[in-house]
Amino acid sequence: MLLQSKTVLITGAATGIGRASALLFAREGARVAIADINRADAERTARDIGEDGGEAFFVECDLRQTGQIAYAVDETVRRWGQLDVFFHNAGVAGPGLLEDTTEAQYDQVMDIHLKAGFFGAKYAVPHLRRAGGGSILFTASGLGLRPSRQSPAYSASKAGLLMLARALAVALGPDGIRVNAICPGPIDTTPLWQGVLARHPGIVPDSYAEMNRQVRSIKRLGTPEEMARAALFLVAPENSYITGVALPVDGGGAMS
Ligand code: NAD
Repeated sequence: MLLQSKTVLITGAATGIGRASALLFAREGARVAIADINRADAERTARDIGEDGGEAFFVECDLRQTGQIAYAVDETVRRWGQLDVFFHNAGVAGPGLLEDTTEAQYDQVMDIHLKAGFFGAKYAVPHLRRAGGGSILFTASGLGLRPSRQSPAYSASKAGLLMLARALAVALGPDGIRVNAICPGPIDTTPLWQGVLARHPGIVPDSYAEMNRQVRSIKRLGTPEEMARAALFLVAPENSYITGVALPVDGGGAMS
């Protein structure tokens, strides 16, 4: 029970990595608040946690609206009296090549990834301080560590999150608040991949997945559950001397 009596707010836990993390964190004793725009699937995650004997609730939140992020933080503390972990995981597929990216697409990817991470941390930190310390985790990407010619806006947003994690780790360490990031490689999560494929007409799902398999040392896509275990490792209070790191969970390969 690595998160016994801890309260966690996760963004983007309707599906994929966030859902797997919410389920795992709850099994490790955490009460889990889920902030997401996808009501049906997020409610399903909360319900599944309840049926598993855990505690969770859903707060509807469009992360492009900072007021709604503040509301999600407040609602978590109002219900459970404390916040120990803020895990900003939500994300969207990248918009594609420089010449194809519109201003609206650029704003969407920056707002959901970077701006929501920044303001989520800002609203969460007073509560983490009040709890005597805690943890912030961002889901970045391998594409934030290495350049990608396929989606510069996506890469820049995730690279921004990585520097935000490092900057906040330095600023908040004295308060006992650790800030880290996980960097997934290609993880088999249907909704996000559908978004990627929609922006790359001509790439059929199998060939895109196959291309990724070929460049990995471990010759398969990762699973949401493998990401969840990495997330748990970084937020667990027992790993109390780890801060400011970007942990690749990517099967040991590079994607160009
Ligand atoms: P996913 O599509 O299953 O999950 C994304 C979640 O974010 C969903 O619950 C979705 O509803 C939520 N979301 C999207 N826009 C939102 C908004 N405006 N407000 C609130 N919630 C919103 O995909 P996933 O693969 O689980 O993605 C999780 C994270 O992992 C993302 O940050 C993504 O960039 C990152 N990532 C994924 C991969 C991969 O291969 N799947 C690789 C690298 C990084």
